[in-house]
Amino acid sequence: MAVEHTPSEIVHRVAKGGITGCGTNTKDEPDHWKNTSKEITCNKNGCK
Ligand SMILES: [Zn+2]
Repeated sequence: MAVEHTPSEIVHRVAKGGITGCGTNTKDEPDHWKNTSKEITCNKNGCK
C-alpha cells in the first residue's frame, strides 16, 4: 500500500500504524496524505 504526501507529491510506502516506510507518521498531518495506487517515489530507506 502507498500514500501520497500531497504538498510534495511524493509517494511513500506505508508500514504499520500509518507510519511511512521512512518513518513519517501520517497521522500528524492527515490532511497532507491520501491513499494512492501510484508507484512509490520516495527514495529514503524503508520506502524504496
Ligand atoms: Zn518515504
